[in-house]
Amino acid sequence: MTMAMPSVLIVGAGPVGMTAALELKRRGIHPRIIDKAAGRAQQSRALGVNPRTLEILEPSGLTEQLLMMGNKLSRNYIVEYGRTAFTLRLSKLKHHFPFMLIVPQSETERLLNDAIRAQGLEVEWNTELMELTVEGGQVTAVIATEDSCTYETPDYIIGADGAYSTTRQFAGLEFRGSGYPIVFALADIQYQQPRDPSAGTIEVLPGGAVASYPINEHVVRHVGTSADIVSLIKNRRAGNSVLWESEFHVSFRHVDQMSVHSVFLAGDAAHVHSPVGARGMNLGIEDAAWLAWLISTGEAHTYSEERLPVAKRVIRFTKTQTDQLFQRGPLIGLSRRVLAPAMLALPFVEQMALRRLTGLDAPAPPWLEK
Ligand SMILES: Cc1cc2nc3c(=O)[nH]c(=O)nc-3n(C[C@H](O)[C@H](O)[C@H](O)COP(=O)(O)OP(=O)(O)OC[C@H]3O[C@@H](n4cnc5c(N)ncnc54)[C@H](O)[C@@H]3O)c2cc1C
Repeated sequence: MTMAMPSVLIVGAGPVGMTAALELKRRGIHPRIIDKAAGRAQQSRALGVNPRTLEILEPSGLTEQLLMMGNKLSRNYIVEYGRTAFTLRLSKLKHHFPFMLIVPQSETERLLNDAIRAQGLEVEWNTELMELTVEGGQVTAVIATEDSCTYETPDYIIGADGAYSTTRQFAGLEFRGSGYPIVFALADIQYQQPRDPSAGTIEVLPGGAVASYPINEHVVRHVGTSADIVSLIKNRRAGNSVLWESEFHVSFRHVDQMSVHSVFLAGDAAHVHSPVGARGMNLGIEDAAWLAWLISTGEAHTYSEERLPVAKRVIRFTKTQTDQLFQRGPLIGLSRRVLAPAMLALPFVEQMALRRLTGLDAPAPPWLEK
């Protein structure tokens, strides 16, 4: 007797929802994936694709394509008041992907969308989750398009609908945490002079910090405190143009459980934190792949206990990193200029720091273990 495949509804077709669809599909499960937007997002919040994500997307052939279009960041300079305090040498990471791959999020989403379409699955755009109702433990989803409203009771509902998740709200899961008091901004600037695309910098400034990552030889993404980004844009030399600028607020929040009844949350719907360390999208992609694997093995009930500790650890780590960038004083300056380089000179400390930075400190996906 063959087992019937479970029915799955994915709410949200950002990078996390599309990864869930891709990973389910390659295991023979055909989910329904809906998104209230009219089409894929054109803006790119995330840029850094880490080695763990590259491992996860390798079996579906996506990693090969990402590697062809991405820019391999092999070192990151931490600069304090014009002098290099220390360098994170990503190229020293003992892994077959010893770098952070820089790919605009819109491109990663395009590749994911192409991959699920190649598997015979279409995202249903302009289709919104309006409500979830629970009766006797059974969850019903109310889904609306422009001209119809339908009720569905799938075996699994995956809420991958971002930081303001409707799924989370209807499932009654609280999003605890707090906002960060600093306003951040980003600017993608096109420079006339080419830059080394394999090197990034984090510059510690008197009142803030600015991280700069080359998207390619001529375009650099700057992220930092709003005031620093505004002055950077004002001071740009003639001929360099600002392709995109945006302001944003940062919060550190997570749910207390990542599932209830047949509802499972993944990505920003379950946890948000600052972009320091480039973990958000990567962590969400990992959630989605993990959940797809657990659904396919009939073990989805363990999802929250496996993933929530990982999310909490990443939130703690990114919070510490963010705080450190804004701490001032002789002691913190000394630890950046003297202690950090001395510690990083020890190979095992360097490996530990690099593994943490690139997401390899989290448990390895069991389905990839050889
Ligand atoms: C400045 C900045 C830089 C960043 N850099 C990085 C980085 O370098 N690396 C990294 O890993 N992460 C980074 N991040 C974080 C990353 O962008 C997010 O973690 C990621 O986009 C989350 O993906 P998601 O699929 O969970 O949610 P989203 O991308 O927000 O997608 C959610 C989708 O759900 C849809 N939706 C919402 N409600 C409904 C509904 N009711 N019904 C149907 N559809 C719905 C939305 O239309 C949307 O398409 C950065 C973030 C910022 C702000």
